[in-house]
Amino acid sequence: MSPSGPRLLRVASVGALGRMGECVRAALAADDDAELAGALERPGHPGIGRSLEAGVVVTDDAKAALAQAQIAIDFSTPASTLAALRAAADLGVAYVCGTTGLGGAERAELEKLAERIPVVAAANFSIAVNVLVHLVGEAARLLGPSFDAEIVELHHAAKRDAPSGTALRLAAAVAEARGADLEEALVLAREGDTGPRRPGSIGVLALRGGDNPGEHTVMLVGRGERIELVHRTETRDHFAAGALRAARWLQGKPAGLYSMEQVLGLG
Ligand code: NAD
Repeated sequence: MSPSGPRLLRVASVGALGRMGECVRAALAADDDAELAGALERPGHPGIGRSLEAGVVVTDDAKAALAQAQIAIDFSTPASTLAALRAAADLGVAYVCGTTGLGGAERAELEKLAERIPVVAAANFSIAVNVLVHLVGEAARLLGPSFDAEIVELHHAAKRDAPSGTALRLAAAVAEARGADLEEALVLAREGDTGPRRPGSIGVLALRGGDNPGEHTVMLVGRGERIELVHRTETRDHFAAGALRAARWLQGKPAGLYSMEQVLGLG
């Protein structure tokens, strides 16, 4: 980096030694204009104290991890996300949140904290998945409610939350296109004598197994015909690349909660 070149984007990784944390750090290491500036892990993690890229030492102290950073990229757990977000808000550090499975109260606190710092939160940072969300909304709008919406997702066996945040985002795209209430429309389980399908419902089925980083199929099922829109992924690299793109986009933005659709100019 020449002294006259653009300043490096200094990024702290939250969940730095997890599957996604490793990918975020690899994306930073491969990027000439960004670097790791902090690494946060859970208390008791065997990697605490380890020295990573750029001499950054893994810590379990959120403020210490964020102190040298302009922005945090977080793929961890809902509880750790909220703790790190509070520290980021106190320090004025912008935030890219990829953690899924936040409950209603956690989401409400995230929204409150985003009044103090700029935050991008997305269930999926893949550019292709965000295009899929857009296409699903468009297809649901064009086909109308007589086409039944069913969503199937497959993820690796270690995934903690179900259904995936992406499946819920896809369901929301269908609901938005129909002007329907997502909570009312969602059907997350079917068992026994369920009776006929409730008109307007949106079914979501979660499959778990192996090491699959994430697969989503949206079916819009009519009488005698159907459309299936599918996204499959074999790596996690594009989630990290999308998160880094969001981090760059967020630079200089006012406090507020932004979506990946806004980052990509899709909505
Ligand atoms: P993982 O379990 O491999 O990694 C999570 C990491 O967070 C672990 O290293 C864990 O030790 C760490 N952690 C736990 N508590 C912590 C704390 N208090 N402080 C700091 N770190 C802590 O999981 P993963 O596969 O990397 O996924 C992480 C999250 O990201 C999940 O919610 C997953 O659904 C989500 N995810 C989102 C996207 C997206 O594009 N938005 C893509 C993939 C995964």
